[in-house]
Amino acid sequence: MISQTRMIVQDSLDALLEDTAFLPGLEGEARKQAFTSLGAILSTPNHLHKSFLRVALENGSVVRIPAFRVQHNNALGPYKGGIRFHESVNEDEVINLASLMTLKNALHDVPYGGGKGGIVLDPRAYSEKELHLICKKYVQYFSDILGPDKDIPAPDMGSGEREMDWMMAEYKSIRPGQAYKGSFTGKSVINGGSLGRREATGKGVYFTFRYLLHDFLQKQREFLSNSESLFAKNALDYDNSASPLTIAVQGFGNVGSVAALEAYQCQHLQNKVVAVSDRNVTLFNADGLDIPSLIKFTSLHGGDLPTTELELAEANVKAVIQNRSDVLYLDVDVLFLAALEDQIHDTNKGKIKARIIVEGANAPVTSEADEYLSNKGVIVIPDILANAGGVIVSYLEWMQGRETQFYSEEQVYRLLLEKMKNTMDTILPAFFGDPHPLRQNCYIHSVMKLSTVLYRQGKLY
Ligand code: NAD
Repeated sequence: MISQTRMIVQDSLDALLEDTAFLPGLEGEARKQAFTSLGAILSTPNHLHKSFLRVALENGSVVRIPAFRVQHNNALGPYKGGIRFHESVNEDEVINLASLMTLKNALHDVPYGGGKGGIVLDPRAYSEKELHLICKKYVQYFSDILGPDKDIPAPDMGSGEREMDWMMAEYKSIRPGQAYKGSFTGKSVINGGSLGRREATGKGVYFTFRYLLHDFLQKQREFLSNSESLFAKNALDYDNSASPLTIAVQGFGNVGSVAALEAYQCQHLQNKVVAVSDRNVTLFNADGLDIPSLIKFTSLHGGDLPTTELELAEANVKAVIQNRSDVLYLDVDVLFLAALEDQIHDTNKGKIKARIIVEGANAPVTSEADEYLSNKGVIVIPDILANAGGVIVSYLEWMQGRETQFYSEEQVYRLLLEKMKNTMDTILPAFFGDPHPLRQNCYIHSVMKLSTVLYRQGKLY
C-alpha cells in the first residue's frame, strides 16, 4: 500500500514537472529543485511520534502497549486523522494512512493537513476499564502535540465515539480553561459530536456513485458522448440501460449498510441491491434484497447478517445464502467495497464482472488490479474520493464546537453533499476528458493544490 500511494504521488509530480503551465514562475534548475523538494515533503511525514503506553491491567499485571501519532503534513491546516485500535497496527501503515489523509483533505478542500494514530492492541482483549485507561494514557503521552489548532484525532477501525469522549475529557483535564471541544471529533452528540456523523461516510460513498452516474451524466451527456474515453463509454452504457442497475455491497457495517440503504431508497437511479455480504456470508436475491429488514436484524445480532434459513425467516428476508467471497464475483453492474483492504488483487482481478467499483473501504483494490480494471474501462471510484464523508463531517463537528452552534441533521447532510459535489464537479470533467483513471486524476488534483500552497509558503527550496 505504501508504494502505491508514493508511486501515484511521484507519477503526479513527474507529470506536473513537465507541464510548464503549472507554477510557471518556476523554471530550469529552480523548477527541478522545487519538484525534488516536493517529492521529499510528500513522501515523508513531518513528525513521527511513538510511545509505549504503560497500563496496569485489572489482573494486576502491567503492559506496555506501542502507540503512534504520525503528523504527515500541515500545509493546509492542523493535522487530522483517526486513531486505529488494532493488533496489526505498525509504523509504516500509520505513515501511509497519514499521507492519504493529507491527500484526501486537499482533494475535498477541507482545511486540514494529514495525520493518523494507532495503538497496537486487540480492543476485544481488554475490559472497558482498561480501555478507558489506555485512552487516557494516549492523551497524556501525546498531549503536547495534540489540540484543536494542532492535531485533531478521530475514531478509526476499533475505536468510536466512546473512546473520543474519554480522550476529549482527558485533554480537558490536562489543559484546564482551554478550548477543548475541537480537540477530538467523532464524539457522541451529547459531548459535542455532530448529528449525522455515523451515517456520513456511507452516505458520501453512495453519493459519489449517484452523482457520477446520474447528476453529472444528465448535465454532461453531450460532453461524454464526444469523449474518446473508455470510461465515458462505460458510463453512457449504463445511462442507456433499460433495466435497473444491479448492485452488490461487500461489508455490511457502518459504511456498507448505510450505502446499501441509500441505494435501496434512491429516487434518482433505478437500482436493485441484489447482494450484501459480511465476515460470514453473502446474501443474494436477483429481485432485490430488503435492506431495512437486514439492518434491523444486524442491529439485534451484534452487527452480523443472517447466516441460516432460520435467521433469514426471523429477519423476514428472502435470499440465497452463499460464501462470503462470492459477493465479489457476481454478475452485477456495480460493486461497493466496504469491508477491508486488498479485496481485489492480482489473483482474483480477472473474475470481477462489475463495470463500476466504489471504494468505501481504504485501498480495497490493489494497484495491479486497479490498472487491469482501468485498462478495461471499469470505473473505480477511489477511496480518497468516495469515503471522505467521515472527515468532512468531522470538520463540521470541529466548526460547530468552535462556534458552539449546532446544526440539524438536515443541515449536516446538505453541507456534506455540497462539498462532495464541488469535488466531483472539479474532478469529473478532467477524468472523462483524459485517459487516466479516476484515482490518478484525484491524486493530481491534490498534489497540485499542495504544491501550489507549499510554493507560495516558500517551502520548496
Ligand atoms: P465496520 O466494522 O462497521 O464494518 C465492517 C464490515 O465488514 C462488517 O460487516 C464485517 O462483518 C465485514 N467484514 C469483515 N471482514 C470481512 C471479510 N473478510 N469479508 C467480507 N466482509 C468482512 O467498519 P466500517 O466503519 O463500516 O468500515 C469499513 C471500511 O471502511 C474499513 O476499511 C474502514 O477503514 C473504512 N472507512 C470507514 C470510515 C468510517 O467513517 N466508518 C471512513 C473511511 C473509511
